[in-house]
Amino acid sequence: MRDELIDLRVKIKDIDSQILRLIRDRLEFSRKIGEIKRKNDYPIIDLKVEAKVVERALNQARDFGLDEEFSRRLVNNLIIEAVRTQGVIIEDRARHLYSVLERVKELESEGVKVIRLDVGEPDLAAPGKVKDALRDNLYRKKYVGYTSSKGLEELREGIANELNAKYGTDITKENVLVTTGGKLSIFTAILSKIASGDRVVIPHPAWPVYENCTRLVNGRVDLIRTCVEEEWAIDIERVEEAFKVRPKLFILCNPNNPTGKIIPDNDLNEVLQIAERNKVCVLTDEVYSSYSYKPFKSVLQLTDSNYIYVNSFSKRFGLTGWRVGYAVADVETISRMHRIIQISVTCVPEFIQRGALEALTINQIEYRAFAARMKERVNIACEELDKLPLHYLKPDGGMYIFPKTIFDGFQSRHFAHRLLNEKGVSIVPGEAFGEYPEHFRISLGRDVKDIRAGLKIMGQMIEKWPRL
Ligand code: PLP
Repeated sequence: MRDELIDLRVKIKDIDSQILRLIRDRLEFSRKIGEIKRKNDYPIIDLKVEAKVVERALNQARDFGLDEEFSRRLVNNLIIEAVRTQGVIIEDRARHLYSVLERVKELESEGVKVIRLDVGEPDLAAPGKVKDALRDNLYRKKYVGYTSSKGLEELREGIANELNAKYGTDITKENVLVTTGGKLSIFTAILSKIASGDRVVIPHPAWPVYENCTRLVNGRVDLIRTCVEEEWAIDIERVEEAFKVRPKLFILCNPNNPTGKIIPDNDLNEVLQIAERNKVCVLTDEVYSSYSYKPFKSVLQLTDSNYIYVNSFSKRFGLTGWRVGYAVADVETISRMHRIIQISVTCVPEFIQRGALEALTINQIEYRAFAARMKERVNIACEELDKLPLHYLKPDGGMYIFPKTIFDGFQSRHFAHRLLNEKGVSIVPGEAFGEYPEHFRISLGRDVKDIRAGLKIMGQMIEKWPRL
């Protein structure tokens, strides 16, 4: 018995050594391929080739009787490493977002008044009734303990009822998870679906958090670039191509941050059908849906399976710092996400959840007034932008505009930092959202006076910016 054990362990040792030697050789060949690609100006990442590599490996794995999931992750990990060998540098885009934010805080602490056109926070005040409910639940009712990590039953039920009334769905509280902001819904969604080597498809430009979170678990991000010249339309052929490499997740932000684009119904339908055919889960981030200036369709209205829907109290109710968001998905997915909340933040504080519950009972007319105010800001900002050498698509929704300068060689991150340091106006560089150095994001979270003043100052700097 003992001899057999020793014998088997020796065999495993030999196999490990062979595997590692083969991986070394594989990476060496990849490096050489990288050199050829660079010499000939070929793109380093070629999804068509990667799809073939994955497919071939899966066929062989099937023949060998290996688990498909395991084999897919293994071959994708080899691809991730090969791409790294070929010199692809993965940029941490979020730093472009947070570097502006940190510099703003520094300047403000020195007493500088900054015109904030960077913030993803609407300056809308939470209605008094909601704040009163929070105070009452904290001081009088003393709801200060832990709640279920899924969130209060009443709140989950309230969220389900609201969505059902709005979208004609049949969501129950079992499908709802309350999280510390929509951000934690996104984080737990990705963590619950993605392991090392899994692929996530994201149309660009995109809020950088999706990418960073995927990379945190060594997932592979496949991007689908969209551009202002094509009105930020998602190319369906490119979606088909990306899905051939068998991703686990497709992330949509609708209305989009930073472009303000609402995906047209037909495109959304088509994309969802492709996802369904390929058994890819759709993570739909709809935190800006209450600011829609055109008819808006939720993914909830178009599909009833294999999605994770995310929304939040932050943008719609002006409750960013309260940190209440939620996810809706099938019971099994919710249970996996719930386990991550259990072992991390435990729950959103109960008195805050009860304040959020009160927000759900507020007359919807009041919230529609928020959207009307945001739309007015969009119109005013567009009037100012029209005077400048910029190209942009008027947002269909959300609270941002993502203009493009029309001269070559523009580097948004330099522009954003000079504008902030020299003129006290903060915007977010386009690099935060993808390969968009000619673009920048303007937030309409502040009042009309600030928007006008900030855009005027920004415009003067644009006019004088050195052109190549
Ligand atoms: N999704 C998008 C696209 C965002 O821009 C943000 C915040 O800026 C969030 C989600 C998360 O918001 P919160 O965590 O405040 O709910």
